[in-house]
Formats: sequence, C-alpha cells, structure tokens
Amino acid sequence: MLDRMEGKYDVVVVGGGPAGMGAALGARDSGAERVLILDREPEAGGILWQCIHSGFGLHYFREELTGPEYAERFFEKVIDYEVDLVTNSYVSGISVDSDGTKSVRVMNEEHGMDTVNTKSVVLSMGCRERTRGSIRIPGTRPSGVLPAGLAQKIVNLKGYLPGKRIAILGSGDIGLIMARRLTLEGCKVAGVFEIMPYSNGLTRNVVQCLEDFGIPLHLSTTVAYIHGLDRVEKITVAPVSKDLKPDMSRAWDVKCDTLLLSIGLIPENELSLSLGIQMDVVTGGPRVSSTLETSMPGVFASGNVLHVHDLVDFVTRESLLAGQFAGEWAQGVRRPADNIRLVPGDNVRYCVPHSLSPEREHTIYMRCKEAMMPCRIRVGNLMERKLRFVVPAEMIIFKIKPDLLDKFHGDTLRIDILPAEKGKRHD
Ligand SMILES: Cc1cc2nc3c(=O)[nH]c(=O)nc-3n(C[C@H](O)[C@H](O)[C@H](O)COP(=O)(O)OP(=O)(O)OC[C@H]3O[C@@H](n4cnc5c(N)ncnc54)[C@H](O)[C@@H]3O)c2cc1C
Repeated sequence: MLDRMEGKYDVVVVGGGPAGMGAALGARDSGAERVLILDREPEAGGILWQCIHSGFGLHYFREELTGPEYAERFFEKVIDYEVDLVTNSYVSGISVDSDGTKSVRVMNEEHGMDTVNTKSVVLSMGCRERTRGSIRIPGTRPSGVLPAGLAQKIVNLKGYLPGKRIAILGSGDIGLIMARRLTLEGCKVAGVFEIMPYSNGLTRNVVQCLEDFGIPLHLSTTVAYIHGLDRVEKITVAPVSKDLKPDMSRAWDVKCDTLLLSIGLIPENELSLSLGIQMDVVTGGPRVSSTLETSMPGVFASGNVLHVHDLVDFVTRESLLAGQFAGEWAQGVRRPADNIRLVPGDNVRYCVPHSLSPEREHTIYMRCKEAMMPCRIRVGNLMERKLRFVVPAEMIIFKIKPDLLDKFHGDTLRIDILPAEKGKRHD
C-alpha cells in the first residue's frame, strides 16, 4: 500500500473521517491529480462507524441515514474519484521545507516510519472526548467511569455493555444518544445530570432520547462525588448555585455501577500546534481565512478539528470547500488575502471563518453564549436576521453575499446576537 505514497502529492489529507473524505473529494473536484488520505484507523469513516443511530444526512442528502450509511456514500466516492487512501497510518508530524513543500511523517504498523511530500495539506483529525481528569470530579477511582463516546464504541462496535445501571453526567448529544441506546439494550439509566440550566444537546435528541423513554434530565445539577472501590457503587449529585458550585445541603445519592461522561469534545490539534499554526482559544481549532487556510500557507483545516460541529452535513459542506481551496493552492492559485476581520460581539461565543473577502459568498458558522428568544443576528451595519431562538448547543449558520461585502468599507466586521425588536421586520 505504502509504495503508492512515492513522489509528491498535490494534497495530503490527515484524517479520513467525513471531513477528510469531503476534503479529498473537494480537492479532486478542483483538478488536483494526486490526493492522499491518511488515517490511523483500519478504515476511513471516523466516528461515523460507531454512530448506528439515524439522523445523519438530513441536510446534505435530504434523507435520514445512519452514520455507517453516510460514511459508505463518501467512501464509495473516494474510490470512484481515485483518491489514494492509506489506513492504519498515524501522522506523527508535519514540517514545511524552504520551498513550501510539506513533509508529512507517517507511522504505519506494518511498514514503520515513512515521509510523504505534498504541496498542500488539509487537517481533518476530528476531536476527542473530555475525561474525568479534565473536570476533576472528587471521589474514589473505581472502574466504570468512562466517556460516553467510548461507551458507544464498546456497545456498537465490540458488542459489550459497559454496565447495567447507568448515570450520565452532561447532556451533550453523545450522552443523550447513549441514554437511549443503553435503555434499548436493557440497562437502567438512572438520569442525566447537567450543570448548566439548559441541555447541551440538540433539542431533537432531548425529545427523542430522553423524553420518549422517560429518562429524567436534571438541569443545574452536577456529580459531586464518585463512590466505590473496585467498581462504581453510587454517585452523589447536587444542584448548583449561580456560580456553578454544588450545594451539598441539597445533595442526594444515585445508585449506579457506571458513570458516563458527556462533558465536551476537544479538537485534536497537536499537529497544528507543532506546526506553529495560530489557534482560536475559544474553538480550540486553528484560526482560518475564508478559504479555510490556516496561518501556515498551504495548510487548510475542516471538520471537528476546526470547531466542534453538531451535524455531519455541515462538516461535509465545510470540508468540500477546504479541499477545493487546498487543491487550487496545489495548482498554483493564490487568492488575495482577506481584508475583513470577523469578530464576535454581544452574545457570540465564536465565529468561523475568522476573516472574509468580498470576492465570494461566505457561510458563517457560529455559536451563542447564552440562550435568547426571540432574537436577531446583526452583522455590522450590513444585515440583520430575525431568529426564533438561539441556544449554545445549536450551531447558527448563515450566508453573507459578496454584494453586501462590496458595500462594506471598514476592516473589522462585528457580529452580535441581540434581543428582537418588537414590531420591526428584519431581512
Ligand atoms: C456519539 C456521536 C453521535 C453523533 N450523532 C450525530 C447525528 O445524529 N447526526 C449528525 O449529523 N452528526 C452526529 N455526530 C457528529 C458527526 O459524527 C461528526 O460531526 C463528524 O464525525 C466529524 O467528522 P470529522 O471528520 O471532523 O471527525 P472524525 O469523524 O472524528 O474523524 C477524524 C479522523 O481523523 C483520524 N485521525 C486523527 N488524528 C490522526 C492522525 N494523527 N493521523 C491519522 N489519522 C488521524 C481519526 O482516526 C478519524 O478517523 C455525532 C457524533 C458523535 C461522536
């Protein structure tokens, strides 16, 4: 397999999840001839293989697919488009030579270390789950405390159950999906405990995974202590005050043998950091221009490594674009630098990309800090859009047309989310 990797590639994509596959297809569509995907797992598809529930592809294919079905569609295209795909290959480093060539260091379990040369790179390494250590839950250290996505892998890919009586900390989508999955497998899910006053998952998942199965969701509540020597025996949960501190005077115990953690995802950016790429401290991903190029010329990023997405459909759209621009870059196309900086204003946690150019239409991905309803998004003095509501768990996506940006004369465009104005119509 690795003999295929000889010579110089146009585009090397690191990670073969939905973002990596989309980027490779985008690169081929742009005319790039030699495109390679490297993935450390035995198969491309990323996290999708373990997501056997439906709900994928509603936006992109207008069909409801399971994760594996969604992955399969792109996998077949990757083969049709004659993209080189090398799996079981971990990318351990990337360096940039003086002529701009990128050297990608690959570790393959059969063939050992190798280096691939390429004109451009797309980073699509996805993200990993936060663990008990990242939030320091007090208590003993028994077995039975694990991230919800890992539990999903154990159940759906290995065929084992992580326990019988389950508690879940965090109401992110993975926790919600696992509450339903484990109930269907005959486990008792004692409850989902969420420190914030709102769920961190999609509304549809709260309804379909908890409410439909009578699983209680305790908002503004956290796990204050884990009990058990060899195995989890119970947890102490407590309501939290406004400053998110547990109020132990109102704490109670929940009997369980397993505690799943659905407390957030961290973009896997060790490679980006080692390249010296500028990062966004809020998203945990690289700062990117409107062509999804990082601060390192010829290195692009897309998918969960850039910012955590709720839906794979938007990962696909973003990565097709990243691949297209990476492919063009490899063919010598150099676009003028963006001249408008996008900055988060009132109630905006982040927005991606970080800069814009009046050259083309842009899709802006952003999240709010706090729930608001009804509200409006204000983009400088260029446009306003009314929204029924915004919640931190649901990404906000909208387009800005080039004719609007043509009218803009500043160099910094601020985006705010504001309460709706009564009686006023917004475009
Ligand atoms: C439990 C769960 C439920 C979900 N449910 C839904 C849903 O119902 N609907 C929906 O639309 N979306 C859902 N999603 C979201 C969707 O699956 C993700 O948005 C999508 O998989 C992100 O794609 P990605 O390619 O960025 O990352 P990933 O899918 O994580 O792929 C990253 C790939 O990069 C590889 N990689 C990382 N580092 C290296 C390296 N150094 N060298 C080589 N390879 C590397 C990994 O092996 C992996 O294959 C769900 C996600 C999870 C976790």
